[in-house]
Amino acid sequence: MAWSTCAKCGKSNFEMVEATPRNSAFKLLYVQCAICGAVAGVMDYVNPGSLLQLLGNEVDRQGQMLTEIKEELAQIKKALK
Ligand SMILES: [Zn+2]
Repeated sequence: MAWSTCAKCGKSNFEMVEATPRNSAFKLLYVQCAICGAVAGVMDYVNPGSLLQLLGNEVDRQGQMLTEIKEELAQIKKALK
């Protein structure tokens, strides 16, 4: 496996740093050299996979609530007959 090195200083120490570049409406994460600060890559601040997992969990929770409401409505309907 190749060893990642900074294109500017040649060192191999990288870190994640929060950043909001000028004219950007969103925070980003820079992968930067921990020695000289040269930016090697940029990532979304919010991980899309984690966000999808949260949304999926919420959809499941809402689905369960709808099932419970349907069951209660069926019981009310039965009681009114
Ligand atoms: Zn560097």
